[in-house]
Amino acid sequence: MEIVMAKSIMNANNRIAERNRDRLAEAGVFTANMCGSPGAGKTALLEGLLPKLNGRLRTAVIEGDLATARDAERIEAAGTRSIQINTEGGCHLDAGMVAQALEAIGLDALDMVFVENVGNLVCTAGFALGEHLRIVVLSCTEGDDKVEKYPPMFRNADVVVLNKVDLLPHVRFDVSRVERELNQLKPGLPMLRVSATGGEGLDDLADWLVARRAAWKNSAVTS
Ligand code: MG
Ligand code: ZN
Repeated sequence: MEIVMAKSIMNANNRIAERNRDRLAEAGVFTANMCGSPGAGKTALLEGLLPKLNGRLRTAVIEGDLATARDAERIEAAGTRSIQINTEGGCHLDAGMVAQALEAIGLDALDMVFVENVGNLVCTAGFALGEHLRIVVLSCTEGDDKVEKYPPMFRNADVVVLNKVDLLPHVRFDVSRVERELNQLKPGLPMLRVSATGGEGLDDLADWLVARRAAWKNSAVTS
């Protein structure tokens, strides 16, 4: 009985996610779902990254948290339009919540939307939001053992952003172990190294995202 219920919830979510994806494609808005643990630095990454995209892509951010509008306020303070979703205790965003936020944010004058999911390495992996790109932010203060402990999260990723690399000399974190385990789990999955607060790697990540959006745009036009 429970299995049937879980399945029907997922099917309903996937249907709404498909509608979001169609709506976003129509509007030409490339959308990234950003996942990661609490404290991995997802919001800080956006604060560092969005100025690098200025003048190249028109962006907006949807923030998902259980409570407060703190992250949306940080993004707005950094100069980018942001909408906060409060899940009121819910541990992940679902496609219906994102559909409402997309309506509110207005897609006409945008090239890209970042959806910062609730900090959580478990069930956020299972809920499609209608995104075109799944970014998993892992930070080197979390430990280098996360890939094999949370395989669905990393298997569903399109890119892993390793954050806080400026702290590598001070923490026990073997980057080559993470690369090896990612490669076993999902061969070819790219990993980019950044320091959201120090700035290292942010230009490369911005270039990578601009290129991914262009490739997505081209494939949408030709298919
Ligand atoms: Mg955050
Ligand atoms: Zn959840």
